Amino acid sequence: MTTIKLHNTKTRKREEFTPIDPENVRMYLCGPTVYDRAHLGNARPVIVFDVLNRLLRHVYGEDHVTYVRNFTDVDDRINETAQNRKAAGAQGTLEELIRQRSDETIQWYHDDMDAVGAMRPDHEPRATEYIGPMVAMIADLIAKDHAYAAEGHVLFAVDSYKQYGALSGRSVDDMIAGARVEVAPYKRNPMDFVLWKPSTDDLPGWDSPWGRGRPGWHIECSAMSHELLGASFDIHAGGIDLQFPHHENEIAQSCCANPDAGFANVWMHNEMLQVEGKKMSKSIGNFFTVRDLLDQGVPGEVIRFVMLSTHYRKPMDWTEKKREEAEKFLRQCATVLEEWSDAKKAGGLQRNDPAEPSAGLIDALTDDLNSSMALTHLRFLASKGSAAPTVFGGQLYRDLHFLGFLGRHWSEWFDDHADDLAPFAQLLSEARSVAIETKDFSEVDRLKAALVAVGIEVQMSKAGVEVARKQLDSIGIAYSRANRAVATESDDEADFWYGIAEQMKQGILPCKENQEQKIQALFEEWKL
Ligand SMILES: [Zn+2]
Repeated sequence: MTTIKLHNTKTRKREEFTPIDPENVRMYLCGPTVYDRAHLGNARPVIVFDVLNRLLRHVYGEDHVTYVRNFTDVDDRINETAQNRKAAGAQGTLEELIRQRSDETIQWYHDDMDAVGAMRPDHEPRATEYIGPMVAMIADLIAKDHAYAAEGHVLFAVDSYKQYGALSGRSVDDMIAGARVEVAPYKRNPMDFVLWKPSTDDLPGWDSPWGRGRPGWHIECSAMSHELLGASFDIHAGGIDLQFPHHENEIAQSCCANPDAGFANVWMHNEMLQVEGKKMSKSIGNFFTVRDLLDQGVPGEVIRFVMLSTHYRKPMDWTEKKREEAEKFLRQCATVLEEWSDAKKAGGLQRNDPAEPSAGLIDALTDDLNSSMALTHLRFLASKGSAAPTVFGGQLYRDLHFLGFLGRHWSEWFDDHADDLAPFAQLLSEARSVAIETKDFSEVDRLKAALVAVGIEVQMSKAGVEVARKQLDSIGIAYSRANRAVATESDDEADFWYGIAEQMKQGILPCKENQEQKIQALFEEWKL
């Protein structure tokens, strides 16, 4: 069997991976808090551990891997949006509005992560559906003297777990010195963290032995991984920013609740993402979401390629140059695949299609998920394929498929409509010739206005008429801008974007979602 080597944060070593049960290899990835669009950095762990999921399935078999990624849907920011919507007159109870907000954000998340080629995990538990197991685990921790109730809160007693801090290699004293520790009167020790907290009447809450309240964030992952993967499982993954305190706290909770089990054997952490050498931040204007890029016409495959071009344990720098190079490379691949596919249809293949991904590709990935090496292998194959597509096209197809680039056909990677609009240019140009004769430009103006209204830019010069699709916003972006404005209490801006989103929905304003439809309607109306 193929040997996979992984760097284990827990032991700080590269180790040979040995699953607890090769019939059921189990992996947990901390998922998103669903309060807004996923920013570009959120996509990194999703893509990196999607490749690991694919590799595990390749080695142990499609049906012998269980991959879990949760949704955190208990969060003050979700509550806030729901409360604002309720205040603005939205129909439904607060619980319904919270559910609605989580549902819409989960839908966005799925759309965006599907677009970057990530397979859906086997289970995507929502925290709100696992409150029972969380309450049970908290009660168990109290019974075992690892937690205590105080003033409606339940806190984990950090000094009851001697190995606390082992994952990140910090002492409790260092943590107190380095972290922003919330000092509260009900805490016995400033490092103690919340397992359960009280809810006021205007916030979501669940009945518990400690009164009506809601769980802390860390207990979610301990309870959900226990329910779906058991007390011991193979791999726990997440961004390096979660190592402390989130993962330390998960370990403390799970190991104290189940002292005979080991919780996760291997811990894997991906490094953070920067943009053009700088930390992504709203204040310096280099903050963007996955959807922003997709809407700017950057294909999901290009995002995936750039993300995989850096090893997951190194900081990843998103740059325009890398985006351009990835696009150029994927266009080269599409050309090879097209020629290979044409030759195949014509019966002119010089080599049978391979059933397996290249050994070089698997070697790279089994070496602690060396994705940049895997892409180097793809480059090599594509350059050979450019010279001899009928020989190497099949392997290139198989390898691209393995790495998750062929969730859709290669012809759909790039949305090139350069020539589609030519009949509009032709029509305008004819109308203009007539207008120059008759001195009546009303028909030209009418045609031009109709094109602009569906999001087409028109340029007329002596050289001729040029038309091009404008980059349009989408309904989702408008909603997300509105919600961001709500969060910063910019009411006018929020109203503006809600208004835009509504008009887009009703087809009054052109947007990404309805542009094609509107263009087709013009073609029909003008019989082109
Ligand atoms: Zn987690």
